[in-house]
Amino acid sequence: MTLSNNRTLDILQKAEAGGYGIVAQTCYDAGMAKALVRAAERNKSPAILQLFPITLQAGKGPFLQYCLTLAHNASVPIAVHLDHATDPEHLELSIGLAEKEGIKFDSIMVDASHADNEAENIAIAVPYIKRCVAQGIATEVELGRLEGGEAGLREITGGMLTDPANAETFMKETGAHILAPSYGNLHGSYKFIGGPKYKLEILKDLQQRFKGRIPYLCAHGTDELPDQLWRDLVESGVSKFNINSWARDPYCESLSKSLASNPFPDAEEEAIEAFAKVCDKFMDLLGSKGKA
Ligand SMILES: [Zn+2]
Repeated sequence: MTLSNNRTLDILQKAEAGGYGIVAQTCYDAGMAKALVRAAERNKSPAILQLFPITLQAGKGPFLQYCLTLAHNASVPIAVHLDHATDPEHLELSIGLAEKEGIKFDSIMVDASHADNEAENIAIAVPYIKRCVAQGIATEVELGRLEGGEAGLREITGGMLTDPANAETFMKETGAHILAPSYGNLHGSYKFIGGPKYKLEILKDLQQRFKGRIPYLCAHGTDELPDQLWRDLVESGVSKFNINSWARDPYCESLSKSLASNPFPDAEEEAIEAFAKVCDKFMDLLGSKGKA
């Protein structure tokens, strides 16, 4: 389904065409949101500010509006995305805010990858995707299934790799705009399987099929990846990179340490800078620095 002037799609279209990747950073609070925007502005980089449903549920419309105002008034293009909306209540909350109050994410991941099969995945996702498109909101879907879990998300077991031939039909039938494929990636730590063992040929196949058009490819499960693998993913056609613990953990550590001896505003500022420094690193590594 087509969408004109969608901020997420505009950012990803330019990244895919330019051969660089976009930091899509999970933010759990206002300090993290400020830190991402700070990093994007000083690196002259586009970015995506991501929320988990659990954060949206806590802050509802006012917090989403805060993130939208912060992101959309930045000096560089920043979109606001809802990651892993799996439960009907989260989908209703996020789409309802758009429909009833005009508070709209730029994009939402309508995640029905927990469905028993592909037909059920499509059947669950399509009605939500249609409502998103009617509001000008782009959508991301997952085909195959990623194992693991992150703070604030469902724990998933029984991973399945994405079949690229299927993916073409799936994307046509869902009408979604961003694809999160399963290529050996998982949420959380790779240390239990002896490090990431990616099947980049799945991504390269998808890249050939979708190059220069919707859907754009998104990498989930980026914890602990070595620098070279990020570059390999960009080369294999990934334009959206979901990043969470890399920046979140230094933020939390800095805040908790600093609060022992500093007043809150000083401790918060240190934490924001610790978070922003991690974003600096990935904007450089993914090549988005200087592209805004
Ligand atoms: Zn994910």
